[in-house]
Amino acid sequence: MLICRRISEVRELVRTERGTGKIIGFVPTMGYLHQGHLQLMREAKKDCDMVVISIFVNPAQFGPGEDLERYPRDFERDHALAAEVDVDAIFYPSVEEMYPPGFNTNVDLNSLTGCLCGKSRPGHFRGVATVVTKLFNIVLPDRAYFGQKDAQQVLVIRRMAEDLNMPVEIVTVPTVREEDGLAMSSRNVYLTPEQRRSAAVLFESLKAAEKAVEQGERDAGTILQLVRDMISSVPEAGIDYVELRNISDLNPVEVIDCPVLLALAVRFGQTRLIDNTVLEV
Ligand code: AMP
Repeated sequence: MLICRRISEVRELVRTERGTGKIIGFVPTMGYLHQGHLQLMREAKKDCDMVVISIFVNPAQFGPGEDLERYPRDFERDHALAAEVDVDAIFYPSVEEMYPPGFNTNVDLNSLTGCLCGKSRPGHFRGVATVVTKLFNIVLPDRAYFGQKDAQQVLVIRRMAEDLNMPVEIVTVPTVREEDGLAMSSRNVYLTPEQRRSAAVLFESLKAAEKAVEQGERDAGTILQLVRDMISSVPEAGIDYVELRNISDLNPVEVIDCPVLLALAVRFGQTRLIDNTVLEV
């Protein structure tokens, strides 16, 4: 497996491989890899001839007071995990390589980014859209893989790729979970044992909402109340948002009469976790 620290190196590598007719798959990550990330890589390995991943904790998508400095990092561990799924190359740039002095351009969407995580984390999706655009331009993948765990991010990336005619197919991979249902996340390591136990309520509340809809409940307010009550009942959980939104434009919904995104963000101490499900009728 090759490790490329420079943009020029990864460009050259992909250019050579593409020249031999290979289909290039790409998995952007912030590292501290877990089975969720590895699942994206496995999917990419299935579909593509060469898989490149990136490991880059992107400062531009963190707001003031967020966890940029303490975000977990362990390149040796990531390297070993990526080797397990036979990734071909890791692009592991420095911040200076990605944002040299004079950097002055951003990618911003007109909608989709003002609600849910975009509301709680102003500027977050500008940072995401900008870095993903840069990574796409550097790697020039045929396919790029994103997790449904970050449902709003996938919508933003799909919209951006379509609007800007990026020649890349966006593939969404279902959320990978721990045994008790907690969505895998690099941030789960921040949780104390008690917070970790409490955090299982997120998945339980999504399941309860699915069940209520299955049993005929269609009122958004009732579903939201059910989820909020469940989450509020466990120690240390502080709701950031619990919302029901149209699956394509993220507009709020009152009645569940088509597939709807139930998305939530909850704090356990300093740690903010997100999860979601699509409620089908
Ligand atoms: P991150 O390193 O958190 O930026 O995540 C990199 C990619 O992995 C994103 O596309 C995430 O949506 C995806 N991802 C993170 N956690 C999971 C998970 N539990 N299941 C599936 N995909 C995930």
